[in-house]
Amino acid sequence: MARMIAVICAVFLLAAPAGLAQKKGPKVFISADMEGIWGVVHTNQTSSDSAEYGAARKWMVEDVNAVIDGLFDAGAGEIVVNDSHATMRNIQADALNPKASLISGTPKPLSMMQGIDASYDAVVFAGYHARAGTAPAILDHTISGGTVRAIRVNGQELPEMGLNAAIAGYYKVPVILLTGDTETCGQASALLGAGLVTAAVKEATGRFAARMFPREEARARLRAAAKEALLKKDGIAPFRLAPPFMFDVEWQTSAQAEMPLLLPGVKRTAPRSISFSATDYIEGFKLLRATIALAAY
Ligand SMILES: [Zn+2]
Repeated sequence: MARMIAVICAVFLLAAPAGLAQKKGPKVFISADMEGIWGVVHTNQTSSDSAEYGAARKWMVEDVNAVIDGLFDAGAGEIVVNDSHATMRNIQADALNPKASLISGTPKPLSMMQGIDASYDAVVFAGYHARAGTAPAILDHTISGGTVRAIRVNGQELPEMGLNAAIAGYYKVPVILLTGDTETCGQASALLGAGLVTAAVKEATGRFAARMFPREEARARLRAAAKEALLKKDGIAPFRLAPPFMFDVEWQTSAQAEMPLLLPGVKRTAPRSISFSATDYIEGFKLLRATIALAAY
């Protein structure tokens, strides 16, 4: 048996042209959330303790797999999916396209962007939702619906897609595609630039109601959009914010502003608001996460 393996290995070695390292296709990072997934309209579908959750997590991996198919259609060499919703254990590992790898579980230092670095060529936001205070949009919120009313960086209010795109931008990686409801797609184009490709799977009529586009059509659109986006990635600029970074967080209640003040450098600017600054965006983002964790105390 060992001899047979040695022979097979030798055949493969001979088949590879000497001195020519095989050029792999682009490396793509997918951050997958749940509110913008086809079929999802309510927290009873996005909470792991809900009876409807099983169906929604299946739709989630189906949307993500459609995106993966499109990325491979365009020649992707490596795809890493970071499960980015709540428990971050929504995608069942054996349901994901077996050619992609999965980052599962929480907590993770960079949360929805855990795993990103400068080795990637492109980022996809799948199943994303609009920022807190958007309507009509399914389950609009920013990171934590129970605590965060608004997050501003250098005066600009940002949704999760913006905060996360700036992490990708820190590593000079462009966000090439966003999928979600029509309102979220519009918000993404306005924020991240016209070069971004978007694919809507549903149109919200309110925070908890939407018309789903026909499933077959929606999944075909996800696949085609992913292919289109990766093929044009070189024409899409990374989303980069200019340092230094002033973070302002407005909480839902004044009580939520209290515990974040325990962190060095965090100041109260109004009964419900805090601010802090950072010269490095990743450090600022981590401090932001710490304030949100403390706000929920
Ligand atoms: Zn989510």
